Parts: sequence; C-alpha cells; structure tokens
Amino acid sequence: MKIIAVAGTKNTGKTTLVTRIIKELVKRGFKVGTLKHAHHSFDRADSDTGKHKQAGAELVAGVGFETFFTTGPMEIEKVLNMMKSLEKVDFVVLEGFKNYPYAKISTSPDLEDEFTIQTVDAKKLNDEEVESLVDLVEERSFGLVQNFNCKKCGFNNCSEFVHAKVNGDATNVECKTDSDEVLLRVNNEAIPLNPFVRDFIRETVEGMIKSLKTSEFGVEDFNKIELLIRK
Ligand code: SF4
Repeated sequence: MKIIAVAGTKNTGKTTLVTRIIKELVKRGFKVGTLKHAHHSFDRADSDTGKHKQAGAELVAGVGFETFFTTGPMEIEKVLNMMKSLEKVDFVVLEGFKNYPYAKISTSPDLEDEFTIQTVDAKKLNDEEVESLVDLVEERSFGLVQNFNCKKCGFNNCSEFVHAKVNGDATNVECKTDSDEVLLRVNNEAIPLNPFVRDFIRETVEGMIKSLKTSEFGVEDFNKIELLIRK
C-alpha cells in the first residue's frame, strides 16, 4: 500500500486534485483509500457521537452507510495500518497532513519540503498533466516504512530509501519489510527479526494452530495469523 499526500494552503484546489488523482488511480485498476485531515470537530455536541465523547469515551468511531470515521486521538499510522489490513487498498491519498513523512504533492510553493515530488497549480492542471502526475505518484510514493533500517532494499537505512524514492532514484525499489511474512510488534514498536527467530516463530505458531480444530470455525487455510499477547 502506497501513500501520497496532497498538501497546500486553503483554497488551492486540494480536494479537486485529490478527486482527480483518485479517479485516475481507479481508472488504472487500483483500489484507493483516502484520509482527510480535519481541523474542525466532526461532532456537534448534541450529536450521538458528540455525546459519547462528552461522556468520556477516549475514542469514538462512527460507521455510516459509506464512511468510517473516528473522533479522538488516533495516530495517522494506526489509521493507515487499519486501512492496509482491513481494506487492502493499493493507494491511500491523504488530503492535508503536510508535516508527515510521506511522498507529497504540494499545491502551495511555500509548503515544498524534502518529501515533495511535485508542486502544482492544482486549478490549472489539464487531464494529461494529471495523468503525468499520477505516473509520478506510482513511481515515487511509498508505503508505511517500519524503520527497521535492515538494508534489504539496498539502501543503508530507511531514511536513505525514502529520499531516494521521493527523488526518483528508486522507482523500482520497494521496502522489503512491507511484504515480510512475519512481523513482530511489542508495545506498538516494530521489532526486526533475524531469519532464525522469524522461522522459529512462524513454524511454532503455525504448528500449534494446526493442532487446534480451526476447520470447525470455518478456517481451513492460514493466509494471515494475528496473535496478541497482553501483559
Ligand atoms: S527494506 Fe524497508 S525497513 Fe529495510 S532499510 Fe529498506 S526501507 Fe528500511
């Protein structure tokens, strides 16, 4: 799952550009998710979810006919991880989030930074220019980098990889841990696994689960196993 942010100051055409990028990505056969940065509260105090919040709920989730939203302190990485595991989208287009380390299209020249792949006048782009922009998005955007600094991508660390992607020097390279078969997180921190531990965990956990009668619960094959240990 790759991430592209469209960032800019007010009234610079961000939403229009986001919708054009979504349409072009969908036209190319990709499954797309979006995430909008909201500066205002979604909840009026007299709404149902507003009342939940006022009553003291830390996190309120609203699931509507078409849109899932949360109110409360949820880190963007957590939301992106949810999108990745729940919906398996190919691209997430962010609207806003100008200070985050994802590949970025800027609609305001003064917001250009080290993650900007292109600055555009969003209100003047024609269709061909949007297509070229989406070519760039395909080549230069990247997903959630786990910061393992494992060098499997051929770069010395994750920061080098990210900057090479943004600058177009790693168009055919992806973060290798993105597709790793075994991932371990402890207290939300990703922990790198050496081959011995990785294979040991996989074989031990799979072996134990096979001894359980998972077929009685309708599970014949294991595509993905999640195990949570709370202390
Ligand atoms: S493969 Fe991924 S985690 Fe490893 S150094 Fe490259 S970017 Fe970082």
